[in-house]
Amino acid sequence: MSIPIALVGVGKIACDQHMPTIAASAHFHLAGAVSSHASDLSVPVRGDLTSLKSAVPDLAAIAVCTPPVDRLRLLKEAFSLGLHVLMEKPPAKTLAEAEMFAPAARNAGRTLLQSWHSRCAAAVEPMRRWLVGQTVRHVTINWLEDVRVWHPGQEWIWSPGVGVFDPGINALSILTEILPSDLSVRESLLSIPANRSAPIAASLMIEASAGHDVSVQFSFDQRGPQSWTIDIETATERATLLDGGSHWAIGGVEQPLEDDRPEYARLYDQFADLIANGESDVDLRPFRLVADAFFLGETKQAPNFLWDS
Ligand code: NAP
Repeated sequence: MSIPIALVGVGKIACDQHMPTIAASAHFHLAGAVSSHASDLSVPVRGDLTSLKSAVPDLAAIAVCTPPVDRLRLLKEAFSLGLHVLMEKPPAKTLAEAEMFAPAARNAGRTLLQSWHSRCAAAVEPMRRWLVGQTVRHVTINWLEDVRVWHPGQEWIWSPGVGVFDPGINALSILTEILPSDLSVRESLLSIPANRSAPIAASLMIEASAGHDVSVQFSFDQRGPQSWTIDIETATERATLLDGGSHWAIGGVEQPLEDDRPEYARLYDQFADLIANGESDVDLRPFRLVADAFFLGETKQAPNFLWDS
């Protein structure tokens, strides 16, 4: 049976990914939206969730596509209305707030998927399986993109605690999924534009309990070719996740993929499975690494950031 779901926040990711994925889904259909501006969706749109639930009484789930502000209040409102929740990354404004998510879902008896869409990229699971039993020597992450291209005009992205970690947390979500080690941040250097409150670049050194390091470079100021790669040197091979996890190679040879469905198709399948099984999935490890990067971070001032520079 198809589950009636509503979008909360109709911005870039809701339009680029959630709407087309729901339209193509066998498990969900779009039944409404909470939005301050959208009016042309062919479904009821209201300014808040409680009003939307009154207008669409059979609404069963929401996908939260707002920036990571005020999420706990929204989550509690959704649970009080009996709704299941798919929450976009990053989870919240603070770690303490995010840690209240799973207990809230348990107490409400509802499903919460704290989503990490990059974990659903086609090459992530094959890479994870390949790494089982390998001895990892070193990992290098380069997540280098131009914020002007990928997040045009999104002022919220410069809020304290966000900046380049908005895409960077995607790399950390893959890292925590594929490595069998516990990870902790050892060094962090944050470059913060003089006119902003969040980093435009970050360099991290993360140590893995298996005894190797992970070198991380995040940039929001990458001109020319963009890069979202994770390189893993093992005792015998070198494997690389490319294009944010949509492809992978061993020893420079691209590997075939058994299942190349898009990330968000898998994400919505995961949400449907969790609802069917009465379960939640709230893994905060990527967010903890980000919190520790800020906790330990040495800061250096970068030139002013301007959208049209
Ligand atoms: P966006 O384009 O700025 O859209 C966010 C929407 O949320 C707005 O259009 C607005 O919807 C609503 N909103 C509610 N409170 C807001 C506030 N204080 N400031 C701005 N918007 C507010 O952002 P987005 O790129 O879609 O990102 C939303 C979430 O998805 C973030 O957590 C982001 O990390 C995640 N995400 C983004 C991408 C991407 O490529 N952009 C990829 C994956 C995940 P209404 O106008 O309808 O009220």
